[in-house]
Amino acid sequence: MNGLMMDFPLTLVHLFERVGRYFPRTELVTRRPDKSIHRSSYGEFHQRVQKLANALQRLGVKPGDRVATLGWNTVRHLEAYFAVPLTGAVLHTLNPRLSPQDLTYIVNHADDQVLLVDDVLVPVWERFAHEVHPRHVIVWGHGGPQPAGTIDYEQLIAPELPSFAFPRIDENQALGMCYTSGTTGRPKGVVYSHRAVVLHSMASAMPDSLGMGASDVMMPVVPMFHVNAWGLPFTAVMTGTKQVFPGPHLDPASLLGLIASEKVTFTAGVPTIWMGILDALDKNPGAFDTSTVKAMVVGGAAAPQSMIEAFEKRHKLTVLHAWGMTETTPLGTVSRLKPALQAAPEADRFRCRATQGLAVPFVEIRAVNDSGAVVPWDGKSMGELHIRGPWIASSYFQNPIEADKFTMDGWFRTGDIVTVDGEGYMRITDRAKDLIKSGGEWISSVELENALMGHPSVKEAAVVGVPHPRWTERPVACVVLREGSKATPSELREYLEPLFAKFQVPDAYVFMAAIPRTAAGKFLKTALREQLKDFKFET
Ligand code: AMP
Repeated sequence: MNGLMMDFPLTLVHLFERVGRYFPRTELVTRRPDKSIHRSSYGEFHQRVQKLANALQRLGVKPGDRVATLGWNTVRHLEAYFAVPLTGAVLHTLNPRLSPQDLTYIVNHADDQVLLVDDVLVPVWERFAHEVHPRHVIVWGHGGPQPAGTIDYEQLIAPELPSFAFPRIDENQALGMCYTSGTTGRPKGVVYSHRAVVLHSMASAMPDSLGMGASDVMMPVVPMFHVNAWGLPFTAVMTGTKQVFPGPHLDPASLLGLIASEKVTFTAGVPTIWMGILDALDKNPGAFDTSTVKAMVVGGAAAPQSMIEAFEKRHKLTVLHAWGMTETTPLGTVSRLKPALQAAPEADRFRCRATQGLAVPFVEIRAVNDSGAVVPWDGKSMGELHIRGPWIASSYFQNPIEADKFTMDGWFRTGDIVTVDGEGYMRITDRAKDLIKSGGEWISSVELENALMGHPSVKEAAVVGVPHPRWTERPVACVVLREGSKATPSELREYLEPLFAKFQVPDAYVFMAAIPRTAAGKFLKTALREQLKDFKFET
């Protein structure tokens, strides 16, 4: 017997209409490139999105067409987040930090028909403009000159009506797409459906997931070109939450300034951002008011336990560690202490919060070893993380080569190596390709990095396996010291020795000014391995 419920599609239309109706006075704040503050509201947003949707239709955008954006986190980008999918077209966010070659490949592969670009990013666009062929280029102007052949955004939408006749959208229709910032091979496109984004927003907003409501003030520091800023702008529209967009200014002082002036309660970004913020707070105690912040979500790379502890103990700030991927929309797991663990000794509580946590509702995980067996949840057995759920990709956009990531029995193979403990807390040990194999034993680079970043003189550390004549590979630590701090290789070694088995401790420590990063701000280990490939170990 079937249930007797209405067939009501899970699409952005509902989120958009709801925020316009119930939260028109809630603010949307953007820091412009010249650092001035722009204020608008969901009421204004509700009208401007419909004007943009009408303008896109007038330009000939059809359902299914891809409309690309090249922009920082701003309210205008949020307008595109809604206007494009509401016409039935597909929002394709481009990462301006990618090389012109990658951007060319991605825009051509996605067959982008229209491009919206921040005027401050026009120089990025010009580096690959001659290789790609969108029909229209629209510029979000901030007072700079208007490049020839482009359309000014404000002039485009000014004559349009602020009401739009929404086409009927199926919940499985594509809403957006994003290419993964892989370190090998060609970038791969992930296509998100309306249904996936709506369900992902509901799961993210739940109090035991990321937790967001109408009385929050949310500042996404994670870029809107990186997995839709982890879906947070969509979640915030669903919940009627005030949003604060930092624009191109991601330095600690600018972010801390916005946290204080806008009374931010919820913010999210990659560990590098929070390391910078921690440094700024440590150096200027009391200079920034962060008392309104309830959660700082850290994901995209492992949040070192030392960082979580430092924020909490020195600044009363709560780090919420989460894990996800472009292919998972991205929220997969969040580390919050279960009630039963809240009375555990402090060291155990921090250890638990530094894991990647429990899968959120409707996401299922398992870890599978080399022989294809699902490993027990004992906190020790390692396996590749497999994941499934309603917002997990089932294939890449027009890319049959990578089809083997998707197993026949409906799981996505993440390439992350994990353990899961008896309570269900998942811990990432490494990316499969970053695990170090020394004398037949596996060594986790992530655990060494997290430990090294707990040393008071170490600002950043990345550990890679380097070919070794006797042991196949040995770990080498690449270390960036804090300004004005000193540490010798033997001091770092002594620091690690009590924490690791002898064979796991790196043999060499290479000091550098900065660790090379991917376009998403993660350590670029391929570059480090290349740099160190002729490294000679002392005998
Ligand atoms: P991306 O698709 O660029 O967001 O990259 C996803 C990958 O980032 C995952 O497969 C993990 O290897 C890594 N990652 C994301 N979140 C975390 C986390 N909290 N801890 C460790 N690694 C993470």
